[in-house]
Amino acid sequence: MGFKLSGFEGGKTEKHEIVIIGSGPAGLTAAIYAVRGGADTIVIAGYSSGGQLMLTSEVENFPGFPEPILGPELMKRMRQQAERLGVQIIDKDATEISLMEKPFKIKVEDDAYLADAVILAMGASARELGLPSEKKFKGKGVSYCAVCDGMFFKNMEVAVIGGGDTAVEDAIYLSKICKSVTLIHRRDKLRAQAIMQKRAFAIPNIKFVWNSEVVEIVGDSKVEGVKVKNKITNEITLIPVKGVFVDIGHVPNTMLVEGQVELTENKYIKLYGETGTSIKGVFAAGDIADPIYRQAVTAAGMGAKAALDALRYLQEIKEKE
Ligand code: NAP
Repeated sequence: MGFKLSGFEGGKTEKHEIVIIGSGPAGLTAAIYAVRGGADTIVIAGYSSGGQLMLTSEVENFPGFPEPILGPELMKRMRQQAERLGVQIIDKDATEISLMEKPFKIKVEDDAYLADAVILAMGASARELGLPSEKKFKGKGVSYCAVCDGMFFKNMEVAVIGGGDTAVEDAIYLSKICKSVTLIHRRDKLRAQAIMQKRAFAIPNIKFVWNSEVVEIVGDSKVEGVKVKNKITNEITLIPVKGVFVDIGHVPNTMLVEGQVELTENKYIKLYGETGTSIKGVFAAGDIADPIYRQAVTAAGMGAKAALDALRYLQEIKEKE
């Protein structure tokens, strides 16, 4: 299984003890622990740094904040904390990752970063419905982020698809901006936490369409409605909406390491122990390796563990030298 990086012509090459890829709660917490553990640490943060919390509104379940804190503000503080401790942060995407030879190599455009240990913390991205009409209207009425795009649909009717925390949280958020929100879910029970469900059920301009799947998003140049199929009666109905928010979960961002590090059936990083991977010296933390909990606080916790594991690994290789 060979994996060679393309050449680094024209760029610089730097060597660091720990390179962390990703800058959500997992990556930044790992950075804080790694640098405090004495390791020369760098974070490849990506062009849109901060991870999924950058797309969230209020966070009220991150301990230490008695009042809700905005997701982007929480990430700004984590980043400031890491930077104050001496972590270097590169606001560009990793374009290639080579884990088959040591030192590990991460290519960032024309530059290369070599690492004794790598922490993979690239998180997960929104899952798509997979409809051709969804592709057609992406950015023209179909959105994956209510906080980013909600205002475009001020006083209009919109639909939210999904039944998890994200869907319900977005429905509540949009209900304050839009005329009405129709939440379309494929079952007759929401997956979201009870407290969120209770809030949503109490909001008069949130309607629920149960046991239904979206079969087509219709419109000419802009979205005019969604066609939904009732899974019990097979009846197809057209719901007129101007915006469609797709909130049906996430897929892990493992594309750059597929074929190198072992993945699970669902393409998450397969863990050995708490944060170890199939390659010694490569660790993983946060949503890229966690299909179950996927919380900011659990990602941060995993980030801390990954850094401590990486520090122990560095110590072991130093002792062997
Ligand atoms: P999720 O919990 O995986 O829920 C995805 C929802 O989409 C489910 O209701 C699922 O239906 C539905 N779904 C999946 N694939 C679908 C498809 N192809 N077509 C139609 N519907 C589909 O994802 P999430 O809501 O994004 O939440 C992710 C994680 O973040 C969770 O752990 C959640 O607790 C957390 N989160 C927490 C907060 C908070 O605490 N404030 C806020 C947001 C997210 P089924 O129910 O039938 O499977």
